[in-house]
Amino acid sequence: MIKANSKPLGEVFGFIENCKKVLVLGCGGCATVCQVGGEKEVGVLAQALRLKAGTEGKQIEFLENTVTRQCEPEFVDPVVEGLGDVEAIVSTACGVGVNHLVERGCPVPVFPGVDTVFMGSTLEHGEWAERCAACGQCVLHLTGGICPIARCAKNLLNGPCGGTTEDGMCEISTPENPVPCAWAEIVERMKQLGTLQELGEIQPPKDWSTARDGGPRRRVRADLKLDRQEQKVQS
Ligand code: SF4
Ligand code: SF4
Repeated sequence: MIKANSKPLGEVFGFIENCKKVLVLGCGGCATVCQVGGEKEVGVLAQALRLKAGTEGKQIEFLENTVTRQCEPEFVDPVVEGLGDVEAIVSTACGVGVNHLVERGCPVPVFPGVDTVFMGSTLEHGEWAERCAACGQCVLHLTGGICPIARCAKNLLNGPCGGTTEDGMCEISTPENPVPCAWAEIVERMKQLGTLQELGEIQPPKDWSTARDGGPRRRVRADLKLDRQEQKVQS
């Protein structure tokens, strides 16, 4: 899932300090799971903003709402249509949600309440790590299911760089941010699976045009679009 961190309160307040009415809008998807932008966090942020406004001598009304997902038109459109005299939105969804609100014609400014950081998994409660960089051409079948794109600091495809420490850590590791070497993990995993010999095959340079490096990506599923059109015709 997408992971995010809350922005500092002062930064968020700075976005809306000259407004009279602000909607704090949460997301019931990833932002809820990583506990930065769901209903509970919307309540906490809205209350903190009210207190901040009070101490700054500003009269600002803060509304609260949390939709199922901010990345889907069916949940976002009713919010956009029902804004009334709201002058700005603070979104606690990931950056996709903010972009989507604008794309759906939101007539007022939409400000980010969180910093979106990566796509990752939960290591333990309260700890997440990046696991996929959405490169658009998955190579996990070659690497024992461990991603050399998202987990190797140099995105290497043909083995480690030589900077791996004796205890299997990446050379970028620090005591505050220990980073296992992805290639040390790949080798161990493939040993365990009995497929280590497959690493002897040299992989050609990756086609990065399917990744973010090829520009903003778009995906069209003609079968789903057709299904939708047929449903509309029948209804
Ligand atoms: S190879 Fe690409 S698609 Fe597969 S997990 Fe890594 S970044 Fe994600
Ligand atoms: S030490 Fe390992 S994870 Fe770090 S850059 Fe080198 S190969 Fe990649």
